[in-house]
Amino acid sequence: MNLDNAIVPIELIDGVINNIKYNKTIIDYFYKFHLEQKKLMEDGQEFLFNPDTLINNSENISFCNKYWLLDKYEIQKVKDYKRTNLCKNKFCANCKKVKQASRMAKYIPELEQYKDNLYHLVLTLPNVPGKDLRNTINHMSKCFRSLIRIIRGERKIYGINFDSWGYEGAIRSLEVTYLLDSYHPHYHVALVLNDDFMSKKNISNTYSFNYRTSIPELTKLFNKEEILIQKIWFLLVNNQRVTKNNIDSLDIGYSCTIDKFAEGHYVELFKYLTKEVQEDGTVLDYNNFKTLYISLYRLKQIQGYGCLYQITDDGDLEGLEAEYDILIERLREKENPEEVLETPQDLSKDKNYLLISRKSYFKYLRQINNNIE
Ligand SMILES: [Zn+2]
Repeated sequence: MNLDNAIVPIELIDGVINNIKYNKTIIDYFYKFHLEQKKLMEDGQEFLFNPDTLINNSENISFCNKYWLLDKYEIQKVKDYKRTNLCKNKFCANCKKVKQASRMAKYIPELEQYKDNLYHLVLTLPNVPGKDLRNTINHMSKCFRSLIRIIRGERKIYGINFDSWGYEGAIRSLEVTYLLDSYHPHYHVALVLNDDFMSKKNISNTYSFNYRTSIPELTKLFNKEEILIQKIWFLLVNNQRVTKNNIDSLDIGYSCTIDKFAEGHYVELFKYLTKEVQEDGTVLDYNNFKTLYISLYRLKQIQGYGCLYQITDDGDLEGLEAEYDILIERLREKENPEEVLETPQDLSKDKNYLLISRKSYFKYLRQINNNIE
């Protein structure tokens, strides 16, 4: 019997243990935020969030992944992971990765059917201070809807025709990276377009260079479709009319790229909203935490359009795989399992049992962990 595909690697359990350590910071931040809001409430001042909700968040995170429920096969030395308690908090290091992995398990097969027609579009704009983040994100989502209407030819620009793009659908996913009080909200988009209509990348502009080197280094060239999107995105974000004249008279738009979709882009597309660390690798500080909590509150990260409209962000993945059922059946032919609860810390030390899981997202969790390192 081949258990290889179902084995939960030890690094993955250790990853969970690390996430739990990191979560202590978040738990403290929620507690501190709770105290601040409570003080405001008691002083009769205006407060943003219910202090009880904030303390509940901090408690839920502390229980996240605390125990794993397993079926233990004593004779065969196998432990079958069944479930754990997940807090689903957007700041939880465990839940972020589980969410990303379950999205990948769920949506990659759906996107694969458009494989030959899939493009990865990245839309950016200049960094904003924390106080402007929420408004900027709201504005971006309106601009994105307009951009889609333009690309699908519903909103016409006199003199520019998008018919050759053959738009069929899109998914957009928001990501916010940050360093101190400088926030960089941007979209990763999967677009279903005609196969091979893009022209050659042979145009350079200011976004072609890496300025971190002492002499700016030319790192990428753009095609005319990218330049067009850079300018249209700029005009939309700056509330200027999108006309051929305005496009032509604009020297430079915002940094945007379009590439044929590659394997690695799935990780980008389904990545969680924010990372646990700032752009320089240091853990988010309390101000980052508050800004992100306020700005991303109840925000929809992923939105599908056109033929990809069905791709939404709700529901967790609980898919069963036939192969796995056969495997469990064989284990059960020999013995009945005992249901046990164990901590990831104990599981990490256990060298006697083979830990397996039916959850297809474990496969992607592995990929995500590898990517981070
Ligand atoms: Zn969690």
